Order: sequence, then C-alpha cells, then structure tokens
Amino acid sequence: MAGLTLRNVSKRYDEHEVMSDINLDIQDGEFVVFVGPSGCGKSTLMRMIAGLEEISGGDLKIDGARVNDVPPAKRGIAMVFQSYALYPHMSLYDNMAFGLKLAGTKKPEIDAAVRNAAKILHIDHLLERKPKQLSGGQRQRVAIGRAITRKPKVFLFDEPLSNLDAALRVKMRLEFARLHDELETTMIYVTHDQVEAMTLADKIVVLSAGKIEQVGTPNELYHAPANRFVAGFIGSPKMNLLEGAVDSVGAAGVVVRYPSGETQHAAVEAGNARPGDKVTIGVRPEHLHVSASGDGVGARVMAVESLGDAAYLYAESRVAPDGVIARIPPLEHHAHGDDLYLTVSPEHCHLFDAGGTAFKRVGSQALAA
Ligand code: ADP
Ligand code: MG
Repeated sequence: MAGLTLRNVSKRYDEHEVMSDINLDIQDGEFVVFVGPSGCGKSTLMRMIAGLEEISGGDLKIDGARVNDVPPAKRGIAMVFQSYALYPHMSLYDNMAFGLKLAGTKKPEIDAAVRNAAKILHIDHLLERKPKQLSGGQRQRVAIGRAITRKPKVFLFDEPLSNLDAALRVKMRLEFARLHDELETTMIYVTHDQVEAMTLADKIVVLSAGKIEQVGTPNELYHAPANRFVAGFIGSPKMNLLEGAVDSVGAAGVVVRYPSGETQHAAVEAGNARPGDKVTIGVRPEHLHVSASGDGVGARVMAVESLGDAAYLYAESRVAPDGVIARIPPLEHHAHGDDLYLTVSPEHCHLFDAGGTAFKRVGSQALAA
C-alpha cells in the first residue's frame, strides 16, 4: 500500500502542453476517481503515474520517494485498461499467471496468487476456460485478477467498465467497491461516468483541459462546487445556470437581477461583489419548485419526463434562453404549454462570478458535511 504525491506535474507533446500544474495528494488506501470530459487528460495523468508516459515537469512521489525516472515494472503499480488485453489462446489461469511467470516467480507461489485472485473475483470455477468462452464482465474480472496477482501498492483503472452494457456496469461498480474494501489498497480509477465517480470515490478529482478544477469528496463537489465548470459537470440532470448581474449586496447575501428584470436572492457571502457585476446563478433541478401563484419567475412547460419515482419538467423561461429543468413529484400533472412559476430558496442558490469562481455559500460547510 502506498500514498502518492504529485507536485507541479506537467505534460508536453513536442511544444504542445496538454497538462499543467497538477498538484495532488493521494492517501494510502484511498479510492480516488479522476473524472472529466473526453480529452481532458485523465489517461495521460494515469499513464504518467504508471510510468508509461514520460513526465515533462514536476515530481511524482510514491511512498515519499521520487519515481519520475523509475521504470513502470519497478513502481509497484498495476494498471487495468478499458480493453482487457487478454491472450486469446491461453486459459484464464495462464492469463493471470503470465506476468508472474515472466518475472520468474516460483510455481507454487504463482498458483497461490492466481487462485487467491480468482477467489476474490468469483471466477475460480472458470480457470480452465479461454477468454472467448467468457462474458464481457468475466473478461474484465480476469484483467483485474491479473493485476491482483502482482500484489501492487497502487491499482490504476482506466475506464474499466466502459465496454460493458448498463446493467453489467452497475454490477461491476459494486464489485469495485467490494474489491477496495477487501484489498484496502490505494486505487485510482478513471471514468467519464459521474455516477461511477460519485458512488465509488473517497475523493474525486475533476479535470478539464489538462488542469485540476477541484478535488473533494462526492458531497463536497455536489453541494459546494468551487466553480461553474464543476457545478455544471457534477450532477445529472445538470445544474441550471442562469445569467444575471448583481443588483444589490447585503449581509443576507446578493440580490441578482436577470436581464428580463426579475430578481433572485442568493444566500452567499458577497465578498468583493459590486452592483452591475456579471454573475451566474446555479440551481439544481431538485431545488427548483413549481408554484401556481405569481411567485418566482414565469415559465412555460415544454415537456415532462416521468421516471416513476420522480419526474423532470422542462420549461422555457425569459431568464433561461436554454430552458430550465426542475425535478417534480411524480404524480404532479403539468401539460405542454402550461404557464407556471418557478421558485428557489436563497440558500439553495449557487452563485458564480464572471470568471466562474463560486461565491461561498452561507452554510455550505454544513451542506457538504
Ligand atoms: P482523456 O483520457 O481524458 O480522454 P487523454 O489523456 O487521452 O484524455 O488526452 C489528453 C490530451 O492529450 C488530448 O488533447 C490528446 O489529444 C492529447 N494527447 C494524448 N496523447 C497524445 C500523444 N501521444 N501525442 C499528442 N497528443 C496527445
Ligand atoms: Mg482516456
């Protein structure tokens, strides 16, 4: 087991800098998830940690020792990719034993390691089969099993579930949680699936365009996003982001005026905000409430999607050129074209300045706890 430290890590391909200023501490035994849109650098960061990609600048330490120049095989890391890369002509047993054989490990030791890994992953009855006789989920387990046999200090998983269908992904997600509980080894897991990130992580690292946007627990990222990017990225359906300008500033927060004239009070610490400053209000769909009276901002129903346990109401409004989404009780009836009002309480408003940085919410510590 091991902790990792990244200090000012950067990556350049020729002149082109694809990652910069990466500073990150990963504790021994932590489950850390890297999320971000495609191309933001998740795999590059992972491959630098594994030693498959040269680090252009900064320091990578594992257990306190700088490993920038240590070859992959000596870093005590095992990596599992999206493509399982199994040998088709070998049995599962041989696939899992292969790395240890190459390393010159003795037969009884290999046998114990393979059988132990197979048992942990519930594939001990399949050891004589060839990869083509397995389902996608079972193949993924073999790839993980091969990593476990090496007894790494750190596991790296790069989008390990993205080749599986939705139902199997849910099942394997639970398997990853169990695996981490059982092995108690440091795990770094890359995904673009935020449900995987929210459910698996002790700590999530949100990346965008080669930079870290925020590091925090799933609850911190959801309830206290540090900026507009994280606010829009974490949460499904997305947070509603509404443009406006500061109208007035007081002890109780900031009053924002939408271009169409309506105002909204946000319970945030005003900081340096001045009347006239451009700001963005953020409201999660579950905090937007429908009211029939003249309270709140006017909206017209575009569509309602019922999910059984809840429903999502899509509406157009003068304050939101792209429309708004509200989570409503499942049996509440609204028809296309209905006019209604949407309200949000001040303490549920997020507020971002023109540069996208979040204002501190009054009581946001409690929300994220
Ligand atoms: P992610 O895994 O988040 O989808 P990647 O880490 O694969 O993103 O890529 C990050 C950025 O680095 C992208 O802009 C990609 O085009 C660039 N990149 C990745 N590998 C190379 C390479 N070998 N040469 C040049 N650019 C690369
Ligand atoms: Mg990738």
